[in-house]
Amino acid sequence: MLQYFEKVISGINEKLAQVGPEDPVARKKMTLEIARLGARLFSGEEPVAWCGVTAPFALLTAMDVRGCYVEFVGALLASTGTSEPLLAQAEQAGYSPDSCGYHRAVTGAFLSGMMPEPDFVIGTSAPCTGGLAVIENLARHFNKDLFVFDMPNPKSPSAIQRQAQQMRAMKDFVAAHTGRPLDPERLQQVVAHTNRTQELLEETFGLAATVPTPARRRDLINLALLMALLMGSEAGVAVARAYRDELSRKVAAGVAGVPGERMRLMWLQNRIQFKTPLEEVLEKEHKAAVVVDELNDLNWEPIDPDDPFTGYARNSISFPLCLSVKQRAAHLVELAHRYQVHGAINPCHWGCRQGTGTRGLIERELEREGVPVLNLEVDCVDSRNFSPGQLNTRMEAFLEMLESRRTN
Ligand code: SF4
Repeated sequence: MLQYFEKVISGINEKLAQVGPEDPVARKKMTLEIARLGARLFSGEEPVAWCGVTAPFALLTAMDVRGCYVEFVGALLASTGTSEPLLAQAEQAGYSPDSCGYHRAVTGAFLSGMMPEPDFVIGTSAPCTGGLAVIENLARHFNKDLFVFDMPNPKSPSAIQRQAQQMRAMKDFVAAHTGRPLDPERLQQVVAHTNRTQELLEETFGLAATVPTPARRRDLINLALLMALLMGSEAGVAVARAYRDELSRKVAAGVAGVPGERMRLMWLQNRIQFKTPLEEVLEKEHKAAVVVDELNDLNWEPIDPDDPFTGYARNSISFPLCLSVKQRAAHLVELAHRYQVHGAINPCHWGCRQGTGTRGLIERELEREGVPVLNLEVDCVDSRNFSPGQLNTRMEAFLEMLESRRTN
C-alpha cells in the first residue's frame, strides 16, 4: 500500500509539472493530498488512528494524529480493482456476504496483514453499527485500545452537547495514548483552516449548481467524504481553493462540465467505487450530468473558535446517513430543488440497511416533489456480481422516461 501511494504521488507530481494555467488541476491536487495522507498512514512514522466515518478528523489533526475511516480502505481497494480476493478472504473467515462490501473488504485487508497497526482505534455508532463492529474487530485484531462515540439521534441541542462531551473525552483518550495534550493554539489554527475550507467548499458546490454545471463527470465524486480527512489542515484549504477557482473560471467562461448538458441528476448515498461504464454512458449517450451527490452536502456551519467542540459535534451528527429518514428525505428534496435536478439515482448499496432499508420512503418523498428515482440493486464495492448489461437497460429506460417528461 505504501508503494502504491508513493507511486500515485510521483505520478501526479509529474502531471502537475506539465499542466498549463487553464488546465483543470483541482481533482489532481485533491488526489495528491489524499495519497500523501495514505503514505503517512502506512509509513509507520506517525501516530495512526483507524476510525469510523463520523470521527472528528480535524481534532485528530490538531493532536498530530493521522486519522482515517476504515471505509476509505474498502473504497480504495475497489477503485484499484484489488478488492475481490480480500472480500473472498473475509467471507472465508465467516463474514457474511450480505454485509456491507466496504466492511468486508477492509476486514479482508486487516486479516491478510495489509493494514498498518494503529496506535488506537476510534469507533462511531453511526452511520451504521456494522462499521462499529468492524472497528471493534480491528481493535481486537491489533490488541489496541478503543474509544467509541455513542452517536446521539435525532439531532437536537442536547444531542449536540452530548456529542461535544464525548469529543472532550476523546481528546483526553488521545492525549493519554500519545503523551501530548491538545495545544490550544494549534486547535485555533485547525479551527481557522476548517472554517476556510468549509467556506471554499460551499462556494464550490454553489458553483456546481449552475446550469449547466461546470463540474466534469469525475470532479466531485466522493469529494466531501475525502475532504473530511483533510479538514483542519493547510492542504485542505489549498485543495478547496483550487476547486473554487477552477469552477469559477469555468462558470465565468460558460464552460459546461458535460458539453450539451440535457439532464441533471442527483446521486443518493454512495458512488459505485469500482470502474463501470455506467457514468460514461450517462454522459456520452444521454448528456446527463450528476450535479449533486447526497454525501457531498455535509453540514458546514462555521466552527466557533471559542467553543470548537460544540461546532465539531454539530457537524458530525449532521452527516446525512445519521439523520432520521424524515430529516434525510427533507434534505434530499431541498437538494433536488437547489440543484434543479430532473431525477435521482439510488444505488441501494447491497448490505447497507440505511440505504436499502429506506429506499421506498425516500423514493415516495422525492416523487411527491416531482423527482423520479431509479433504485438500482448494486454492491458499490464488490464487483463480482455486477451485471452492467442489466443496469444499463434500466438506466436507459429511466432516462428515456425523464426525457419524455421534459419534452411533454
Ligand atoms: S454503505 Fe451503509 S453499511 Fe456500508 S459503511 Fe456506509 S452506511 Fe455503513
